[in-house]
Amino acid sequence: MPRIINFHDIYDDQWFENTLDVISEKFRIVPFSEIIKYYDGGKIPKNSVHLTIDDGHISTYSLIYPVLKRRGLNASIFVSPKIIRDRTNFWYFESAEFDKQQLKVCIAEVLNIELIKLDGLFPRSVMKTLSLNQNEEIIALYRQKFGAAVRECQYIDEKQLAELNQSGVFQIGAHTMNHPILANETDAQSEFEIVESVKLLSEMLDKKIDTFA
Ligand SMILES: [Zn+2]
Repeated sequence: MPRIINFHDIYDDQWFENTLDVISEKFRIVPFSEIIKYYDGGKIPKNSVHLTIDDGHISTYSLIYPVLKRRGLNASIFVSPKIIRDRTNFWYFESAEFDKQQLKVCIAEVLNIELIKLDGLFPRSVMKTLSLNQNEEIIALYRQKFGAAVRECQYIDEKQLAELNQSGVFQIGAHTMNHPILANETDAQSEFEIVESVKLLSEMLDKKIDTFA
């Protein structure tokens, strides 16, 4: 079975180069078409690996793209068309630099539990067990209580998405609208997040989108 190696945001292109060097010592980095071929019953070498980059962080464009292009490599990216269109941040990025203790105060208040119950827990780990609505409520409460500014968008814009699409380097798939943890959502909410993200991304790129992460 081909392996998948997944990246998100990176902060150092030399680190990415070195990582690719290490992967290339043992594996053959293949485009998405090879993965399709395998699941269609075709044969591909055992040491095949496909790279995926989730979320559409700006480093996908500024750091990862130039390196892959220079090396003649392909990868898949999975992005939210809503975040790209609206120039906002996913909830976990928006709250990433919040003070951990103050954030816990807000989590406890929204969940209507005693603060002491959150002792020893990372706020983000707790938020990953909650619904998107709850997390948005927590972030709004934090802003109201502690006056945090809205963070500048950390993701690629529509122009960059179009360039990545035309580059031939990437296979582009959808990744929900708001990046909820789908297991914490109702079926109807999950369906909205998945279906709408495929539809909107397909409209933005004017092509059929048939992959999702
Ligand atoms: Zn993601």
